[in-house]
Amino acid sequence: MDTASKIIKGITCEVNTCEYHTQDNQCAAGNIKVTHYGADTKEQTDCSTFKKKL
Ligand code: SF4
Repeated sequence: MDTASKIIKGITCEVNTCEYHTQDNQCAAGNIKVTHYGADTKEQTDCSTFKKKL
């Protein structure tokens, strides 16, 4: 994976079990999708681009 070119500027992510997470807490997915409709609190939102690191 060409990680450097897929870093999303302005995103800080601490999900270190995700395939796209980098050591300096950036996201190398290129783009992400955050769900869900009708959320009332930040805890109800999720990154649906998450992919479990193997
Ligand atoms: S895909 Fe989502 S969970 Fe994974 S590193 Fe990017 S922002 Fe974090």
